[in-house]
Amino acid sequence: MTARLIDGTAVAAALRAELTARIASLPFRPGLTVVMVGDDPASASYVRSKDKAAAAAGIDARTVQLPAAIDQATLLRRIEALNADPAVDGILVQLPLPSHIDPAAVVEAVDPAKDVDGFHPLNVGRLAAGRPALVPCTPLGVMRLLARAGVAIAGARALVLGRSAIVGRPMAALLLAADATVTIAHSRTRDLPEECRRADILIAAAGRRELVRGDWIKPGAAVIDVGINRGPDGRLTGDVAFAECEAVAGAITPVPGGVGPMTIACLLLNTVEAAERRRVR
Ligand code: NDP
Repeated sequence: MTARLIDGTAVAAALRAELTARIASLPFRPGLTVVMVGDDPASASYVRSKDKAAAAAGIDARTVQLPAAIDQATLLRRIEALNADPAVDGILVQLPLPSHIDPAAVVEAVDPAKDVDGFHPLNVGRLAAGRPALVPCTPLGVMRLLARAGVAIAGARALVLGRSAIVGRPMAALLLAADATVTIAHSRTRDLPEECRRADILIAAAGRRELVRGDWIKPGAAVIDVGINRGPDGRLTGDVAFAECEAVAGAITPVPGGVGPMTIACLLLNTVEAAERRRVR
């Protein structure tokens, strides 16, 4: 038996089409501003993709490009100006920031109602408390993939491999809110293969190339691979040894073409939600 492939590219395209129609029916254009400090090539490429996807969906997308040497006080003033701008519904500060800037201060400066990355402590706290919040895009995308793949979450054992603020922790909070029995594993976890073998749903977000092996997978489990690791040959691989795990799992996401496309689609979703909350409700 081979696992069903969960096609993130197709699910993301459907979500983007749905959002394009939803935006077209609004009496205003939602605004998204991406703030980029410095010119790191990888960040610049992410920012371009976000900008392009947002514009294609009908969002008024802008990028504020700031010099790497900008001081923190000036950056915070720029963010306050975006907070005060009624045409801006979503603000995203591209990370990482130069080392002389405190990322926590920047994240906390963003108006929580415009925090489309879901990183502000108020949104983090709301999610942890099980209340409606703007939720980080990658875990939000994973929840949509599970739903579209028809994976039953309530009562299932879920293992989240990784505990970062961007992926692992919010992922665990969302699965818990959907009534899974959740375990969070990390680099200090004892007997990781055994923890994984118990999971009906396994979310791999460790950033370690092909860490998860075929004999770690419970037969029939849903396996979601968040990892993006670039090999020496330039090829992208996930945290899951795909061929081995595909032979055991019930459903699995590929890399690329799994979680990645959902992250940007969910940024558009968060922008529309933030805009509707601010302007309509
Ligand atoms: P971090 O490096 O911040 O976190 C990695 C987590 O994995 C940590 O909690 C770490 O444990 C744990 N970990 C690392 N190695 C092991 C190991 N050998 N055994 C068990 N646990 C381990 O990464 P991120 O959360 O930011 O990202 C994770 C992966 O997801 C990366 O590959 C990243 O590129 C990818 N990613 C993909 C996105 C997408 O759109 N598809 C978006 C964001 C990230 P500890 O806390 O103990 O150090």
